[in-house]
Amino acid sequence: MKQNIHPKYYKTTVTCTTCGATFETGSTLKEIRVDTCSNCHPFYTGQQKFAQATGRVERFNKRLEKKEK
Ligand SMILES: [Zn+2]
Repeated sequence: MKQNIHPKYYKTTVTCTTCGATFETGSTLKEIRVDTCSNCHPFYTGQQKFAQATGRVERFNKRLEKKEK
């Protein structure tokens, strides 16, 4: 590695703002905040959370409901 051209590399704590989970990684940033993580993302949890499902999503869910009946 060339000297003095690389940014500092920190041991960083990543904080998820949705579920509050934290984990460590390496980055040039001291602190990282994310909206979703592997702990609370629907893909990993298998649960879908649409707290304020309105408009398109709501219509889609209604259509889906009709289809299932
Ligand atoms: Zn999370």
